[in-house]
Amino acid sequence: MVIDVRNVSKSYGDFKVLSDCNLSVNSGEVVVVCGPSGSGKSTLIKCLNGLEAVHDGFISIAGFNLTDQHADLPSVRRTVGMVFQNFELFPHLSVLRNITIAQEKVMRRTREEATDKALALLERVGLTTQKDKYPSQLSGGQQQRIAIARALAMDPQVMLFDEPTSALDPEMIGEVLDVMVELARAGMTMVCVTHEMGFAKSVADRIVFMDKGEIVDDVAKNDFFGGNASSRAQTFLRKVI
Ligand code: ADP
Ligand code: MG
Repeated sequence: MVIDVRNVSKSYGDFKVLSDCNLSVNSGEVVVVCGPSGSGKSTLIKCLNGLEAVHDGFISIAGFNLTDQHADLPSVRRTVGMVFQNFELFPHLSVLRNITIAQEKVMRRTREEATDKALALLERVGLTTQKDKYPSQLSGGQQQRIAIARALAMDPQVMLFDEPTSALDPEMIGEVLDVMVELARAGMTMVCVTHEMGFAKSVADRIVFMDKGEIVDDVAKNDFFGGNASSRAQTFLRKVI
């Protein structure tokens, strides 16, 4: 099991943002997390790589026990790739340098090794010709593909995505989803917060539906889309499809 979340709860003051959440993800599985705005999806994802502390319960990911207060968070973040809504590339670095810098500074690869890896990943996301540009010179869809390449450069065991296409103009969503589909088909373990139900239908193994801090559904894709989701999920689905 790559991810094991057991009885996780979290509050901000009196507000319960996560309520007794349980989730397990096996190697190679693709899990899509959806649910209304404010239901706790981002908080759950951030708890999975230690960006948010967990108050109650247990989380392990890629062999790290995150609820151990001595957890080695830098190693966790190296092993768990994360892609955010707003790309968060380094604006002052070229595309190539965005993908090589952590390889050199964190993974201790040589400049040559890091560059070879970056060029291979740029080819994988279809952006070889953009390698010397700066992030601001690229479209949103291109920036997000670079962000995915940058995360993959660390050879992560699992990739977490938090609404990777929701800040994009509609015509750019497909190019980012195509990269994610390719990654899923290549066997990457993935947890993706997204409302792109076409993506979910094509590559998800399971769909998790959250509402008000709870995991309401955690079911196989065919059950979810085949009418066997909770009534809360079905109401939600009617709004997003
Ligand atoms: P989602 O990603 O599903 O939209 P979030 O996990 O971002 O939901 O947020 C869940 C709820 O927690 C929201 O109501 C949000 O306002 C609240 N929340 C998130 N972060 C904080 C914080 N740092 N302090 C207080 N409330 C927060
Ligand atoms: Mg969110």
